[in-house]
Amino acid sequence: MVNVCLQDIKRRFNNVTAVEDISFEIPDGEFWVLVGPSGCGKSTILRIIAGLEMATSGKIFIDDRQVNNIPARQRDVAMVFQNYALYPHMTVSENIAFGLRMRKVDSARIQERVLTVARSLSLEHLLDRKPKQLSGGQQQRVALGRAIARQPQVFLLDEPLSNLDAQLRDDTRVELKQLHQDVGTTTIYVTHDQVEAMTLADKIVVLNQGRIQQIGEPQFIYAQPANRMVATFLGNPPMNILPTKFTANGFDLGGQLLPCPSGVKKMLHPVVGQEFDLGIRPEHVYINEPQRRRENREEEWGELGVEVRVVEPLGRETLIRAALLGTSVMMNVQVGGDMRLRSGDRLSLELEMDKLFVFDSATGDKVFPVNP
Ligand code: ATP
Repeated sequence: MVNVCLQDIKRRFNNVTAVEDISFEIPDGEFWVLVGPSGCGKSTILRIIAGLEMATSGKIFIDDRQVNNIPARQRDVAMVFQNYALYPHMTVSENIAFGLRMRKVDSARIQERVLTVARSLSLEHLLDRKPKQLSGGQQQRVALGRAIARQPQVFLLDEPLSNLDAQLRDDTRVELKQLHQDVGTTTIYVTHDQVEAMTLADKIVVLNQGRIQQIGEPQFIYAQPANRMVATFLGNPPMNILPTKFTANGFDLGGQLLPCPSGVKKMLHPVVGQEFDLGIRPEHVYINEPQRRRENREEEWGELGVEVRVVEPLGRETLIRAALLGTSVMMNVQVGGDMRLRSGDRLSLELEMDKLFVFDSATGDKVFPVNP
């Protein structure tokens, strides 16, 4: 097992800067996920680590050895792509064995290794088939098997589940997590799917427009997003963002007022006319919150009127998209699955104000709460 370290990596393509200021160190055996919207530079970073792309500047270390000038095949990393790129004329067994044969491992050892890997990925009954006789999920497991069989020092996975249907993606994700727990190889995983990022990662690196926005454990990033981009990217449904102007009576949202929590006042000293984006997660917005609970923590609640636009029943719960009255600002609300609502209904939402985030409306930086 090895660590992987990037120092100040930059990659330019002609006049396009794909990534910039990329620095992090992944300790031995950890599973890190690079996540962000399309074009944010995730694949470029992974390809630079693999040696498939040169960094314009900066240093790359694998196992404390600088590898900038070491060719891909000598870096001892295995990469799995979204399109599995199996050899169509080879059987599953031969595909899994391929990397070992290239390294001239003796055939008894190869056979043993193929069987072990096939068992760990539930492929042992498919060893004699060709790729075209397999489902997409099975093909992706073979691609993973081929990478695992080599026992590389580092796994690099680029959106390996994105071609699978939803059920298979969920199952394979769990298998991947189990596999990492068993094998413990340092792994870097690229995805734009925040659920994969949250569920798989020891640490998440959130990227946007070629730059790191935040690095941290999934729960920490969810609870303490560094900025508006991170706050709205992780979490489904995403955090509600409410543009507002501060007034003498609190936050003004298109004519409706939310009280300014005492903590915000003390920390931010907002001045009248100052603009912010307020953030509140859907799980902290309620309809019909019991009076008793509200009375206990009166100053920590705020109320907003909305009009329901879209109702999405999911069984156990229902998701609602509703417009803040008098504005085009949309909010996400989660209610119990037994609640009957229709487009056009007007509701009064209750907001748990001590769960409020405040972002600088110009930069998007989180200004409240400050990180512990
Ligand atoms: P996706 O999720 O869509 O795969 P990504 O986050 O992996 O995106 P990259 O593929 O790393 O993003 O691309 C980052 C930026 O660099 C993009 O703006 C892309 O257009 C640009 N880019 C990547 N490869 C090249 C290239 N060979 N030539 C020019 N521009 C490139």
